[in-house]
Parts: sequence; C-alpha cells; structure tokens
Amino acid sequence: MLKQVTKNIFLVEGKSNGRFPFCHSVLIRDRITALIETGCGRDILKEIDEEFSPDVVIYSHAHPDHCAGSSFFPAEKLWGPEEHKETTGTMRRMAERLVIPGLVEDWLSLMTSVPQLENFKVGNYFGNGHVFDFGKTKLEAVHAPGHTDDHYCFYLPNEKIMLTTDIDFTSFGPWYANPESDIDTFIDSIWRLRNYDIETVLSSHLGVIDNGIEEKFDQFLAVFEERDEKVLEFLNAPRSIEDFVEEALIYHSYPYGESILRFFEAQMDEKHVKRLIERGLVKEVGGKFVRA
Ligand SMILES: [Zn+2]
Repeated sequence: MLKQVTKNIFLVEGKSNGRFPFCHSVLIRDRITALIETGCGRDILKEIDEEFSPDVVIYSHAHPDHCAGSSFFPAEKLWGPEEHKETTGTMRRMAERLVIPGLVEDWLSLMTSVPQLENFKVGNYFGNGHVFDFGKTKLEAVHAPGHTDDHYCFYLPNEKIMLTTDIDFTSFGPWYANPESDIDTFIDSIWRLRNYDIETVLSSHLGVIDNGIEEKFDQFLAVFEERDEKVLEFLNAPRSIEDFVEEALIYHSYPYGESILRFFEAQMDEKHVKRLIERGLVKEVGGKFVRA
C-alpha cells in the first residue's frame, strides 16, 4: 500500500492503481502527519487512518477522484482550496458547478457509486503560496488552474518533489472538460510548474516519476497541439459539436457514465474549436464548423 519515496514521504497507492475514479495519495510522516488527497479509496483511507492517524488532510481540488473520501475525516483536520469553497463538500452544488443542470443527477449517481463521494465539511482553506510546515518537511501550495479553477499542485522544496496532481502525465493527456476549464490557462500553469527545481514528480494517477521529467512535460504539452490538429483534420467537412461527440475524437469510446463522458467530450472539442476560430483557422457556417 505504501511506497517509500524519502525517509518521511510515502506514496499511498490508490485503488485501481490510482486510475480514475481513484488517485494515489501521499503520506508525510514528520512531526505532523499529513495526508494529501482523499481519493485513494475508502478501504485504503481506513487503513491509513488506523495506522497513522493523520493530523492534517489536504485535497488538491474538488474532483471526486481527489476528494471523495474527505467525509472520512473531521472538518478541523481537513484543508481545501479557497477557490469555490462555497460549494465544495456539498455534492449537488459541486455537480451544478462541474456539469450542466440536465446532467446533475447522472453526475451524482456516477460519483456516489464508484469513488463513493459523500458530502463533507472543510474546516480550513489554503491559497496560492500557502506553506504547510510539518517539521522538516514543508509543502507549498501552487495554484495551477486550467484543469479546474481550484486545481492545486504541491511543492516540497527541501526534497525537490512536485506533487503534480492532475498535471498527471498519463497517456490520455490533459483534461479540461468542465465548463470552467480553460486550455490557455492550463498551458500557463504547466509552464509555471515546470520552472520549479524538480527532481521527483508524484503524479496523482501515475505515481512516482524520477527520470525523464522534462520529456514528460514536453509530451504532455504536445497533446494540446495534437488535439488541435485532430480537430482541424476532422473539419475537412462541416461538422457540429454533436458530430465530434459521435466521433469521440478525444475520448475514443464511452465505456461508462455515457451521458457524462459525452458531455466531457463536447466540452473539450468546443474549447479546441473556439481556440482555432480565434486563430482564424476555423469558421462557423450555418451552425456547423469548418476549416477557414
Ligand atoms: Zn481533476
């Protein structure tokens, strides 16, 4: 369950090998015991709590694969991003923020079944630059919006470790499928993160990465351009966003939660189309999109 990274820092291997709808968590055993991310699965959280009893529990953003197990901990131990604090923890309001009104029930049913999201109460909030002092180990909150408005990464300066959370380097690539997600903001965040002195990455969905970090950043950033090209290629004839969703250009298939995944596909396609219109490469004709 625990993979030691340094003397004090451990990767908590999440359910399903940390793949969505779960993630890997990180345990810091110092003067203060801290757990980062509550999306590793409830059985694992229970074991961690029994064995280590964390004093401080932090989640990186309001996606259920990162915060679903937060109800397991008392509010006074729990820290979350200050962005969207009015709604985070109230499932229905999270759904209203992350999808559209017609999909709230589908989102709730998906997120309460597998990652077992429950309502939770947060007692403490952090913003960009907040430094958690656990003893020898310091953890800096690095606001990295674009994926969501409230998305954070965490830097451990003494160990030169970056918890890149959903800048996760998976082969799927960057994910920006909520209404608030934004491609350009996401790219800026990745570049800002890259400027830190990083020797080890802990990715929420891939775990420990200790070599080829620069290449991983390059590959992850390249996906935005690759998707632009795929979208342009598909616009060899006039297409509607529904046509993109049928094609599953980014998702390739919808193996579960189909209504939600179709919505996410449409969101990402729309953001690319908008970007290409702004660059003068695509135009809208009669409600459909085509190369300019
Ligand atoms: Zn996320």
